[in-house]
Amino acid sequence: MTNDELQNLVQKISQQDFKRSFKHQAIFNVRLRTTGGRYILKTHNLEFNPKMISVPEFEAIIKHELVHYHLHLMHKGYRHADQDFKTLLAHVGGIRYAPKLAISQHYWHYQCENRHDIFRIRRFQVTHYRCRQCGGRLQLINRT
Ligand SMILES: [Zn+2]
Ligand SMILES: [Zn+2]
Repeated sequence: MTNDELQNLVQKISQQDFKRSFKHQAIFNVRLRTTGGRYILKTHNLEFNPKMISVPEFEAIIKHELVHYHLHLMHKGYRHADQDFKTLLAHVGGIRYAPKLAISQHYWHYQCENRHDIFRIRRFQVTHYRCRQCGGRLQLINRT
């Protein structure tokens, strides 16, 4: 999954389940260790742990972060302990915590010449594929 695909998925879920558009940025952050995702108050952007791409709960994790996002922008209670948060989370079917299983999940991290990130659960031959975003050549960064 690429950052572009993540962005599209977050926009789709926001529209479908919240009936509101997501107007900021969603990106993968390889430095997230135990959290599934996070909402950045200052920028309104969302960051997600690439380890979550393989878990069935990934969409529920996206919903969790979108609950923070939309409530904060609506000046409502966007923190975990707030009633607004609990109510909206339950309403859209988000989950409270990132699944523990995913924490030990490994993934392959690739990058193209223009530094677009690609995360995959299965390894692939870099010579057989090009970056979908720019057509650039791919390189394996590491297995996490
Ligand atoms: Zn949260
Ligand atoms: Zn690229």
